[in-house]
Amino acid sequence: MNYLSTRDTSVSLTSSQAIAKGISSDGGLFVPDSIPAVSLEEIAALADESYIGRAKNILGRFLTDFTDEELDSCVKGAYETGFSSEKVAPVVNVKGNMNVLELFKGPTCAFKDIALQILPRLLTVAGGKAAKGTEIVILVATSGDTGKAALEGFKDVENTKILVFYPSDGVSPMQKLQMCTQEGKNVAVSAISGNFDDAQSGVKKIFTDPAIIAKLKENGMAFSSANSINWGRLAPQIVYYFSAYCDLVKEGRINCGDKINVVVPTGNFGNILAAYYAKEMGLPVKKLICASNSNSVLTEFLTTGTYDRNRKFYTTISPSMDILISSNLERLLYSLAGSEKVKEWMKLLASEGKYTVDGETLAKIKELFAAGCCDDDKTKATIAKIFNENGYLCDTHTGVAVAVYEDYVASTGDDIPTVIASTASPFKFSKAVLEAVEGKASDLNEFDMVTKLAEITGNECPSQLANLRNKQIRFTGCCEKSGMDRVVFDMLGIK
Ligand SMILES: *Cc1c(COP(=O)(O)O)cnc(C)c1O
Repeated sequence: MNYLSTRDTSVSLTSSQAIAKGISSDGGLFVPDSIPAVSLEEIAALADESYIGRAKNILGRFLTDFTDEELDSCVKGAYETGFSSEKVAPVVNVKGNMNVLELFKGPTCAFKDIALQILPRLLTVAGGKAAKGTEIVILVATSGDTGKAALEGFKDVENTKILVFYPSDGVSPMQKLQMCTQEGKNVAVSAISGNFDDAQSGVKKIFTDPAIIAKLKENGMAFSSANSINWGRLAPQIVYYFSAYCDLVKEGRINCGDKINVVVPTGNFGNILAAYYAKEMGLPVKKLICASNSNSVLTEFLTTGTYDRNRKFYTTISPSMDILISSNLERLLYSLAGSEKVKEWMKLLASEGKYTVDGETLAKIKELFAAGCCDDDKTKATIAKIFNENGYLCDTHTGVAVAVYEDYVASTGDDIPTVIASTASPFKFSKAVLEAVEGKASDLNEFDMVTKLAEITGNECPSQLANLRNKQIRFTGCCEKSGMDRVVFDMLGIK
């Protein structure tokens, strides 16, 4: 299998080249040249396998230039011990046909761990094939979850260094503590005075600065990217949709071949795109239900065909979904409409901040997707309701997904067995979750809120969050946007 660019189908790379490169030079994203099919018999056989077996099977179909041994060591290294559930991504039945796929059992308690625990391993193998002897330097701008998950994934991985920039006032107290206490010999973290966009544009500038790239090259180093446009982050996410389906079959909740609905709380469109690929491969999925918070750009797009980022930006209690440009949407558009149209629409997005797809593409989108959004008040009310009625405590992002799911069932009557992706531990967003279940504002400090939330809900705080209280702070630096390149050089020991 080869990989081409969403903006240039003449590009042809192996999977390791696509992973090592991250993004195509024409600005497009790498996509496989065909979608591998998985039969119902194969799905039934996967139901008897562990998560590791399922991951090797599904990933092997995409990463065709990795040997069995390489794939085996990447998958085992990522999933054998690092997750607090041996199922890695367990499915929990909340009520009736409503099931939650818990994707937050990894080291940082957010779903990004599932991809970022394996990406560094894939990247080291890929780097060895594609660019021998070069040290890989990962730069990340984060609004919270990605930075910590990338640090945990890359910590002490040979031949790599990782540097994370976060906006000084743009992350939650728990997220900041998670990053500033990060262990590992090859890691560094810096705040930047500014917002997430400043951090993001600063990193992009460094990434593409020819003088900086040349300096790294002289020192045997090269930049690579850990963000969700890298195919090596997307492919591992396809696995857990197969795994969830297999678990439902195994538990007798569905028969192999029955259709399910999938609901995903969405920001950059990576997670739900993985569900789309699973469906295209043959997983029996009826509707992909895209849930957004008040930043409802995707709800509008999936229902009207117009993508318009010229709108008010809301800061919400589900910050990982506060996003107006969903990069991975480009891969869906490529699948449905081809590279010529993608180029045209992405050009309009860059110049006007807006584009409208043709009627044929919209019809395809509507066949595949349903979409809805909900504001903070409704998110909190939903968290409280599901906890009080069903004893299930969910985080704010998952709360958005549950609310949109309930609206979908109420308006369509379509209540077939459903999997809702749960993307973070409720203890990562203790303040909003505590306020939701208590029904009033809280002025406790972060760790007292965690303790209280555990007490009143009877849920245990994951140890990796609880232990942060006693960890040593290693990184206190804060730089100006103009000083980011200096921080990079200092970390790499380049004068
Ligand atoms: C990143 C993130 C999301 C959004 O996922 P996308 O793949 O960007 O759509 C949702 N919830 C949480 C907790 C996240 O960290």
